[in-house]
Amino acid sequence: MKSVSRAKQVSHTSRWTPRRLARVARALEDAPLARVLQWAVDNFSPDLCLATSFGPQSIVLMHQASKISPEILFFYLDTGLMFPETYALRDELSRRLGLQFKRVTPEHSVEQQAQQHGPRLWTRDPDQCCGLRKVLPLRRFLAHKRAWITGVRNGQSASRAHAPLIEWDAPNGVVKLNPIVRWTSQQVWDYIRANDLPFNALHEKGFASIGCQPCTRAVLSGESVRAGRWPGFAKTECGIHSGSRVVQFGSGAGESVR
Ligand code: SF4
Repeated sequence: MKSVSRAKQVSHTSRWTPRRLARVARALEDAPLARVLQWAVDNFSPDLCLATSFGPQSIVLMHQASKISPEILFFYLDTGLMFPETYALRDELSRRLGLQFKRVTPEHSVEQQAQQHGPRLWTRDPDQCCGLRKVLPLRRFLAHKRAWITGVRNGQSASRAHAPLIEWDAPNGVVKLNPIVRWTSQQVWDYIRANDLPFNALHEKGFASIGCQPCTRAVLSGESVRAGRWPGFAKTECGIHSGSRVVQFGSGAGESVR
C-alpha cells in the first residue's frame, strides 16, 4: 500500500486548516456534485478515496466519480457480518458499471474476536465491536490517504444534521468531503432511477439504512431512516463519522420512511 510520507502529511495538515476548508466549502456550497468531486481530484489525487457502504448515497457518488477520474479509489469496510444482498450488489456494480473496490478488513476475523471478547460482542458492547471492525480499520486505511469522500447527508439523522460539505477529519488526519450532504433522500433515489443504477435488494423489503446483519432491521412507516440500526441500543452511528460534528449517539431523528 502506498504510504503518504511524514513530511507530506505535515504539509498536508498545515495547508488544509479547518478555516481554509470552511472557506472552500462556502465557495462550493451551491456547486454541482461533479464540480465538488473535480475539486477533490485536483487537490488530493492520487491520495483520494471514496468510502462505500453500498447504500444509495454511495452509488450516486461512485457513478459520478467514475466518470470524472479513474484514480479515485473506492473502498468498503468489510466487517465479515454484511448481508448477502450487499455482496450481491457489490458484484453487480462491478459487472454492470465496471467498478472496482478495495476491501478493508478488521485485524481479526469474527471468530477470533469471539475468542478474545466473547461471542456476539455486538449484543453486549456494539461500540467496542464497531471500534474493532470499522473505526480502527478505517483509521489504518486512511493513514495512507490525504482525503476521503463519504455519502453523509444532513437528512439522515439528527446527528448528521450539521455535517458540512468539506471538513477536517481530525481523528484520521485527512480532509473529509461529504459532496451530497445537502441532497434529500428523494434526490438520491431520483438520480438512481434516472440512471438505471442497481441498489440493494433489501431496500424493497423495508430496510432503509443497511449495515451489518446482526445490527440492522427493516423500519416501519414513519420511523427515521436509521431507526433500524442497532435496535435496542441508544446508538445511531458506528463511530467512523464521529470525529467531526457527527456524534456517536443521537436522537435518531431525521428523514422518515414513507
Ligand atoms: Fe459489530 Fe454491529 Fe458494529 Fe457491525 S454494526 S461492527 S456487527 S456492532
